[in-house]
Amino acid sequence: MSALPPGSTIGILGGGQLGRMLSLAAARLGLKCHVYSDVPGGAADVAAASTVAPYENTNAVRAFAGSVDVVTYEFENVPLAAAAAAGEAAPIRPGPKALAVAQDRLKEKSFVSALGIPVAPFAAVDDDASRDAALLAIGESGILKTRRFGYDGKGQVRIRNAAELAPAFETLRRAPSVLEGLVPFAYEVSVLVVRSLAGEIRTYDIPLNTHKDGILDTSTVPSPLPPAHAARASDIAGAIATALDYVGVLGVEMFYLPDAPEPLVVNEIAPRVHNSGHWTMDACLTSQFENHIRAVAGWPLGPTGRHSDVTMTNLIGHDVDHWQALAAEPDSALHLYGKPDARPGRKMGHINRLKPRT
Ligand code: AMP
Repeated sequence: MSALPPGSTIGILGGGQLGRMLSLAAARLGLKCHVYSDVPGGAADVAAASTVAPYENTNAVRAFAGSVDVVTYEFENVPLAAAAAAGEAAPIRPGPKALAVAQDRLKEKSFVSALGIPVAPFAAVDDDASRDAALLAIGESGILKTRRFGYDGKGQVRIRNAAELAPAFETLRRAPSVLEGLVPFAYEVSVLVVRSLAGEIRTYDIPLNTHKDGILDTSTVPSPLPPAHAARASDIAGAIATALDYVGVLGVEMFYLPDAPEPLVVNEIAPRVHNSGHWTMDACLTSQFENHIRAVAGWPLGPTGRHSDVTMTNLIGHDVDHWQALAAEPDSALHLYGKPDARPGRKMGHINRLKPRT
C-alpha cells in the first residue's frame, strides 16, 4: 500500500469546479492531474492533461485510466460502466460501490438504514400499486423524489395530501422514485469525512448549511450543534465511510432535530468532495480537496483542524458580477471557477469570510 510519489498522475472523471479545485490542491503537492470530461474547459484549464470524450465511450475511459496512476471522480453520476472500465486499467478510489449506492436514493436509504443509522421514512414508488402502498406506509405529506439524477432540489415534488401524489408521480414522468416522510428538522448540517487508504478516518468541523431555491447558499462553522451531537454526527459519517470501504472525502448531509431521540437523520451521501466543505480551503491547514488527493494517492491524511471561524457563501449566477467588490473585502478569500456565462442557478464561485476562531 505505497503512496504515489510526487510527479505521479491522478485521473479525475468529471471536469467541473470540484475537479478544478482538486487539480489545484494536487499541484501544490507536486502531483499532476489528468481530467476526463465530456465538455472542454473547467477543471481542464488548470490540469496537466485532459481528455474530452463521452463517459459512455468505455474505450476512451480505459485508455485514460491506463495513462494515470489512480482514478478518482468528482461527480456521483459517473456511469457505472465508465467506472468499471477505468477500474480495469487503474485503481479507482473511492471504489465503485460508493457510486452505486449514492446514485440511487432507494439503495442509499436502504444501505444507510441497514447500518442502524436513521433516515427519513421511505418507500419505493415504481408504479400505481407501489405508489398507493407508499401512501399508506408514509402518510399523506412527504416528498416524492426520483431515485436517480436528482440534485439541488431537482427531481422532487412536495406532497401535502393524498390527492397530490398521483399528479406528482406524473410530473416526475413516472420515473422510479421514493416517497419520503417529512422530517421536521431545526436545521441542516453536513459532515465531511475523509478516510485514508489505510482506513484512518478524520472529520472536519460540522457546518450549518442554508439553502436558497434548493441550492446551497451558506455553510457556517462553527455550527450551533452541541458537542455530543457533533460527535454523534461524525461517528455516523465515519461508520458509513467504513461500511463503503471508502477512500477519499465523503459528504454526508443530515437533518438535525435537537429534541428527538435520534437527533441526526441522514438525508444524502455524496461520494466526493462537497460544496459544504469549501470553507476548509481557507479555514483549515488541509482543505477537503487536499485531503481527498492525499487519500486517493495513498498519502497520510493532513490535519482537519480549523484555525478560523468562517462562512462560505456560494456565488450563484449573476452574484459573480460583483467580483470586484467581493475581491476588495477584507478577511475573505474569493474563489472563481472560470465559467464563461453566469446562467441563473449556476455555481460560479464562492467566498470564504473569515473571523478569528471563537
Ligand atoms: P435533497 O435533494 O434530498 O438534498 O433535498 C433538498 C432539500 O429538500 C433538503 O436540503 C431539505 O431542505 C429538503 N428535504 C429533502 N428531504 C426532506 C425530508 N424528508 N423532510 C424534510 N425536508 C426535506
